[in-house]
Amino acid sequence: MLTPVPPADKSMEEIVSLCKRRGFVYPASEIYGGIRGFWDYGPLGTALKNNIRDWWWHQMVDCPPIGPDGDPVNILGLDSAIIQNPKAWEASGHVGGFNDPMVDCKESKGRYREDHVSVLVPTDGQGLSYAFVDDRSAAEKKIKRDAKRSVEEYTLTELPAIDVAAYPSIVAPEVKTAGTLTEPRAFNLMLDTYPGPIRDEDAKAYLRPETAQGIFLNYKNVLDTMRVKLPFGIAQIGKSFRNEVTPRNFIFRSREFEQMEMEWFCPPEEALKWYDFWKHERMKWWRSLGVAESNLIFRDHADDELAHYSKACVDVEYLYPFTAPNYGELEGVAHRGEFDLTQHTTHSKTKLDYFDQDLQVRLQKEGVDKDEIKKRSRYTPNVIEPASGLTRAVLVLLCEAFTPTPDRKGSDYVMQFKPKFAPVKAGIFPVVNKDGMPEIAQKLFRELRETMPVETDVKQSIGKRYARMDEIGTPFCIAVDGDSVTHQTVTVRDRDTTEQVTIGLDKVKAYLNEKLDA
Ligand code: ATP
Repeated sequence: MLTPVPPADKSMEEIVSLCKRRGFVYPASEIYGGIRGFWDYGPLGTALKNNIRDWWWHQMVDCPPIGPDGDPVNILGLDSAIIQNPKAWEASGHVGGFNDPMVDCKESKGRYREDHVSVLVPTDGQGLSYAFVDDRSAAEKKIKRDAKRSVEEYTLTELPAIDVAAYPSIVAPEVKTAGTLTEPRAFNLMLDTYPGPIRDEDAKAYLRPETAQGIFLNYKNVLDTMRVKLPFGIAQIGKSFRNEVTPRNFIFRSREFEQMEMEWFCPPEEALKWYDFWKHERMKWWRSLGVAESNLIFRDHADDELAHYSKACVDVEYLYPFTAPNYGELEGVAHRGEFDLTQHTTHSKTKLDYFDQDLQVRLQKEGVDKDEIKKRSRYTPNVIEPASGLTRAVLVLLCEAFTPTPDRKGSDYVMQFKPKFAPVKAGIFPVVNKDGMPEIAQKLFRELRETMPVETDVKQSIGKRYARMDEIGTPFCIAVDGDSVTHQTVTVRDRDTTEQVTIGLDKVKAYLNEKLDA
């Protein structure tokens, strides 16, 4: 078995380079010099992304978990337009009200989101503080050299709370002198476009910065057409766009990305129960991708970190090689109260409330007063939102799978994808390209290819063919040898252990199916 490698010992440079070399992720428009914040998914990256996407849909929409009370939950799928009426973004708060505060560095000309800049502050409040964005080590070195005392880490957003006269004493990332950061200013992350023939302010529309709002806009449609009762969910997977100021860390933060979001509509008094339920279900789902338990944590948002309408929020975080020893966001599970439906009700003047017939009947049985029943059985649902990044999930599986193998002959590393998510399930190789072996390999290839992605190859030594499969994360290699001709058997090699088992040609499909289903 391969020895697990701690994320901090994995090199992002190597991961990015293998992604390019092996057809997972390419820089977008590469022949024109690329375009910052955009990536293209190659054949294997697309397969990996689709496998994760399908599993999310399977586990959220087609076969969702049993609810906390032992009843099946009901979640419906949606695919809304990327461009919606711009008024929707005024209602949601993405235009106008809450734009992201940005700070500029006057010296390096860098621009950062205030909540993305961390600062190491000397605990005694004396001397300079050092800011950094991802790589804490450089800031640590400087502060140790200057102060040799203990430090606390804050984000720029948190500094006023600890009463630090911050900006003049902060050394910004990548500069030497203090005080080059400006006070934060609002900056809108939405990319705009002008549908139709006239390009003026009236025609301005936005590429969605999240898939969630398309769900709120269709809440009433789904309720009216799908015979659903509260609680229920609406789920959607699709592209989102944010004009991120500093796209970075490969596909972690890009300007075009994909999200997997679900809005769970429930009666207000059940909201905390469902928040807790989805929080734990989502963590289970991330583990089901084959991510080690120790590489995932919950991070509950502190009260002062919550949006004003949010009652609770927790992030599922992963130990990325570039954040280690810290963790970075993967998914947010938020208790959004009735904020979104109320906002859209106010702005669109369309009622988005819910008449709870079951509650009405219950209250009638309890002998509750008529007016009271009327008041209580019509309400605006509360929303619990698990919102995750599909392209970020691809990054997590790439980082998690990447295992350098200095001791293994032939391959420098193995991509240890859980078989269910591997882009190619098996490689079928005649040991030599003669003596009836290629024909048997070709027959097996055709049989397996009816139901799963497999490859066959007759060129190069068998060792080299195995190594290539290890490097793209193919869990099984099937060697067709002399025994295949005489006894109708093949050897199946396991990617992680390199152990080989001999099985009958007619058993290969069932063998693989069992392993892939695990
Ligand atoms: P961050 O603080 O990292 O910008 P966020 O809290 O704004 O993220 P949400 O709006 O909650 O993120 O989006 C839900 C999920 O969408 C995130 O957990 C992440 O997985 C993904 N996501 C958000 N922005 C990006 C991006 N620029 N590139 C890739 N994935 C993203």
